[in-house]
Amino acid sequence: MALTADAWADGGKAATLITSAFVTRIHTEERGGEQVATGVTWRDGGSSETRREDAAVVVLAGGCTENPRLWLNSGLPDPNGWVGRGYTDHAFDWVIGSFDSDTGNSKGAASSARADFPGYGGLENVGLTPGLQAFSMLLSESGIRGEYTNGRGPTGAWDGSAGRLVGPELKEFMGEGIDRLLNILVISDDDVQAENRVTLSAFPADEHGPVAKVTFPRRQRTARTTANRDFLAGKAAEILRGAGAKRIYRIDWAPLLLHVQSSMRMGASEDDSVLTPEAEARWVRRLFIADNSALANSLGGPNPTLTAQAVATRTAEKIFQRYFEGAPWVVSEAPVVSTDDRITERVLELGP
Ligand SMILES: Cc1cc2nc3c(=O)[nH]c(=O)nc-3n(C[C@H](O)[C@H](O)[C@H](O)COP(=O)(O)OP(=O)(O)OC[C@H]3O[C@@H](n4cnc5c(N)ncnc54)[C@H](O)[C@@H]3O)c2cc1C
Repeated sequence: MALTADAWADGGKAATLITSAFVTRIHTEERGGEQVATGVTWRDGGSSETRREDAAVVVLAGGCTENPRLWLNSGLPDPNGWVGRGYTDHAFDWVIGSFDSDTGNSKGAASSARADFPGYGGLENVGLTPGLQAFSMLLSESGIRGEYTNGRGPTGAWDGSAGRLVGPELKEFMGEGIDRLLNILVISDDDVQAENRVTLSAFPADEHGPVAKVTFPRRQRTARTTANRDFLAGKAAEILRGAGAKRIYRIDWAPLLLHVQSSMRMGASEDDSVLTPEAEARWVRRLFIADNSALANSLGGPNPTLTAQAVATRTAEKIFQRYFEGAPWVVSEAPVVSTDDRITERVLELGP
């Protein structure tokens, strides 16, 4: 959208996309007793040249790991210690059932139904192709069913103890093909844990400076997060049973940082957030964050990207109002969609 802004917005200015640009420093200065962001230094990965941009406002969107790294490499303040803290994911799990009839598992839209359990998280049916089906069934915290459990192997509404299937059991489960399976993905409402965090690593720096170290004791989730996951796995098994599944297995999936949130979280309290509720850095004026790291928490379980995009839109309005004397537009204007003909035509004009 930004590349074609001159084609669809009155006075719109098209952005230039430099795919190899990497920001290495945020610049600030003192103004009226406050620290204020004034621009960035970035490195062109193609030419290795370093350039500086000055700006009225700086917006970070480097993700949950790189935003805190950039902040710390820029020597920006962290008075409450929450820069990089509260790195939150979703403690996923899979519950899978086998059926007598065709489920269409490997065909069509991958995910088209969802059930939310407020306070616990959500469940999504997910159709999987063979490689992804294997991936979902091969990673287990509970080891191999019937062989070892890593001290886990929870039991519940599913058949037997949770774990990975091998041998005759796997053969039987898969015997009638992938399109007799139905997968339910558990996405729990995870607590924010201060000990999950990004710091600067002691390992050698790369061409952009000291690298990030992510500390994430994923096997030490809070009792509430663990209980939410167990509750949802039970619900998933009940749904599959109700739909007529012959066998139901819980995988107890091993931790995987896939939905990540809140390492530079916004919040109402100055004690445990980096950003104000308007997504502006508490200790650096004119510095905003507009990606998943700005989210306050794991959102109660849903896939995070649409919420992050909605918050980024809200943040754009706040910036426009506060620093460019603009008026909010979301409630009064219809959005231009990215499939608009003017955009398609301009993209074709711009070429590859
Ligand atoms: C396998 C997989 C499946 C997923 N499926 C879903 C899904 O179905 N639904 C959903 O909602 N979410 C899904 N997610 C999560 C989704 O990808 C994230 O929510 C989303 O990408 C996060 O966006 P972000 O802008 O915070 O960070 P990113 O997408 O990580 O973007 C950060 C960008 O900043 C760049 N960058 C970093 N540092 C710098 C720097 N210093 N200078 C310049 N650029 C920099 C990075 O190269 C990157 O392009 C999935 C994730 C994975 C891995």
